[in-house]
Amino acid sequence: MASYHLWTVGCQMNVADSDRLGLSLDQLGYESVQKAEDADIVVLNSCVVRQGAEDKVVGRLDSLKSHKKKNPDATIALMGCMVGPRTDALRERFPHVDFFLRPQDFTALVEFAADRQGLSCDTDQAFLVPSQPTVSTFVPIIQGCDEFCTYCIVPYRRGRETSRPVDELVREAEMLAARGAKEITLLGQIVDRYGHDLPDKPDLADLLRAIHPVEGLERIRFLTSHPRDMTQRILDAVAELPKACEHLNLPFQAGSDEVLERMRRPYTIAQYMELIERARETIPGVAISTDVIVGFCGETDEEFQQTMDVLEQVKFDIVHVAPYSTRPGTIADRKLVDDVPPKVKIQRRKAVEELQERIATDLNALLAGTRQEILIERRVKDAWTGRTRTNKIVHVQGSDANLEGRVVDVDIVRAGPWSLTAVLPGTDAADSSSTPIREIELMPS
Ligand code: SAM
Ligand code: SF4
Repeated sequence: MASYHLWTVGCQMNVADSDRLGLSLDQLGYESVQKAEDADIVVLNSCVVRQGAEDKVVGRLDSLKSHKKKNPDATIALMGCMVGPRTDALRERFPHVDFFLRPQDFTALVEFAADRQGLSCDTDQAFLVPSQPTVSTFVPIIQGCDEFCTYCIVPYRRGRETSRPVDELVREAEMLAARGAKEITLLGQIVDRYGHDLPDKPDLADLLRAIHPVEGLERIRFLTSHPRDMTQRILDAVAELPKACEHLNLPFQAGSDEVLERMRRPYTIAQYMELIERARETIPGVAISTDVIVGFCGETDEEFQQTMDVLEQVKFDIVHVAPYSTRPGTIADRKLVDDVPPKVKIQRRKAVEELQERIATDLNALLAGTRQEILIERRVKDAWTGRTRTNKIVHVQGSDANLEGRVVDVDIVRAGPWSLTAVLPGTDAADSSSTPIREIELMPS
């Protein structure tokens, strides 16, 4: 049987693209295999947002050279954000790669795969809906980014913002729910700019309201939001719609207005703090996650301290922190100096991680001893794993019944900074034996 191996690194958008490509190959009779060496078609879906991600992709590409040498008939494709509009340099650097595919644009590979099987193909990628979706599944609603933050390569690789029509997305949500999905996460680089390019200019609030009635769907989430585009209409929709989860991802990137200006982020910290306050007033109990870059061009100790101050004040549930890495061709690469020494960047990242571990530990400790509603996604070893409406990971111990896809109430018995441990109501907490990363004293219920 013809086979493929699909390796993905990077954001949820890449995961969604890979799901759709995998589906096309499945439909053409290809079997997914674990090892690249066993595959007729190997696809690397790449990310170059940070140097670390790019290094991983280059390592994988290099390791495939010997595979291609031994199996000249094997096909190797590089897809995703490593592939820009011009591919000459990549072709020269990686001559063993047969296809270079820009993000979301894998039609050429699907046509080749069909041809290889002696099949014709008429694939409209927009309508590819997984036949067996996971309990929680991603749905891209707006592609590309028009923003051009000075540090970011994404707009150069993913192109202009393009929203998918509301009707098409509602149909997709209906199909996913009919096939077993219980939760969908609507995706966009700036998800809260959804719809501005469509004829009737619907916004994310309109889309949430249109998808909400879909039968079988229990929960709706969305990521990633831009602070400037998070309107009161969207906050109100989340507050009013029972299926919309109380969780927002609102990257602030840096705590200093001067750094934000150098990054071309169009808000001040005062405006950001006002938004956080309004979000918490509008959506009681909302969890807020964020992204932060440390060591951006010219970032002084004082400016970094301002980032730490914002983290202390807001007390985010989750913080994704990355040391700045220059991305060739971006505005920062051309016009600013990457002058914070690597050692200082690493120290700053560590300081953020340590602070956040303490904050998350304290926040999660408040949940120990409470009852929470979670959606069970999968079995991992001896526990079921799910998430609260606020996106906290919960491991449920002591139940062998099949809970996949079910929304259940659980009692939280232990809390660590990165996950919670729970049992089904009526189960003895002493029966559960998992070890969270850092344990907290069990609080009385
Ligand atoms: N669109 C989202 C926003 O506006 O924040 C984020 C998408 S971006 C692809 C994901 C995250 O990668 C960013 O929030 C930023 O923190 C990080 N990132 C982007 N470029 C980076 C760079 N050159 N160095 C380090 N981190 C970077
Ligand atoms: Fe990159 Fe900024 Fe666009 Fe986010 S908003 S994808 S950080 S350019």
